[in-house]
Amino acid sequence: MSAFNEEKVLSVHHWTDRLFTFKTTRDSSLRFSNGHFTMIGLRVNGKPLLRAYSIVSANYEDHLEFLSIKVPEGPLTSRLQHIQVGDSIIVGRKPTGTLLVDYLLPGKRLFLLSTGTGLAPFMSIVRDPDTYNKFEQIILVHGVRQKDELAYHDMLVEHLPAHEFLGEMVTSQLRYYPTVTREQYKNMGRVTDLIESGKMFGDMGMRPLDPSEDRVMICGSPSMLKDLKHMLETRGFNEGNTSRPGDFVIERAFAEQ
Ligand SMILES: Cc1cc2nc3c(=O)[nH]c(=O)nc-3n(C[C@H](O)[C@H](O)[C@H](O)COP(=O)(O)OP(=O)(O)OC[C@H]3O[C@@H](n4cnc5c(N)ncnc54)[C@H](O)[C@@H]3O)c2cc1C
Repeated sequence: MSAFNEEKVLSVHHWTDRLFTFKTTRDSSLRFSNGHFTMIGLRVNGKPLLRAYSIVSANYEDHLEFLSIKVPEGPLTSRLQHIQVGDSIIVGRKPTGTLLVDYLLPGKRLFLLSTGTGLAPFMSIVRDPDTYNKFEQIILVHGVRQKDELAYHDMLVEHLPAHEFLGEMVTSQLRYYPTVTREQYKNMGRVTDLIESGKMFGDMGMRPLDPSEDRVMICGSPSMLKDLKHMLETRGFNEGNTSRPGDFVIERAFAEQ
């Protein structure tokens, strides 16, 4: 059996000239956990050109959704950004990753800290009823440069709280904290600085991080991961992985070249 499925593009939405979202069909045999990533791509000159992508859609949905950067000279995304409805996408059959609620020890608050496309895996996690059963409160933090890069803002603020099945849990348990670094916005600054200074907690009327009750997932640039990992370890949090659950887990939103 091939390691890949061939899926069809169902819709494409461009958030900005650097960021877009697309939905594809989903082979009924594809299994994944919310928070997983898989390899996806295009055939170029007959050969698969693949990159790792977090799955935005929840594992109970019958389509797949991805959030993508557009790197002007990027081998994949210079092409992928031009996809149209009906085009074919290759999707790996073995989703994997460390951003699973199962790799965290039990806790009360779950912090989902993201920058840029690092939001992607958290969009499936905040649509998983299991997340709300395991944690009393979920705090989704998304840091971007400009306001229009706040992908899924309206879904998080309007559509999810009104969702037929998830709405009640979302309304009572999910807090969303979008922050912008290069434009005027209600919340401004880097995620790392907002945590370090305590401002983020003050803005939301919350107590600061506490390793005895809080669990954290992080998905962002390699430098953001490094800074936050150091900050958490300094505060007594232990990193978890696929074989041993911990207080926090991390995944790169992309690799530096
Ligand atoms: C575990 C994992 C999950 C990932 N999930 C996603 C995802 O959900 N969405 C997504 O768009 N990308 C994601 N990526 C990055 C993705 O695999 C590719 O790097 C990206 O699609 C660009 O591909 P490319 O061939 O055009 O350029 P590449 O040659 O792969 O990248 C060129 C350069 O562009 C920059 N870059 C690449 N991706 C990003 C990004 N997402 N944000 C900011 N800068 C970037 C980096 O500096 C990189 O060195 C993920 C990477 C990893 C390791």
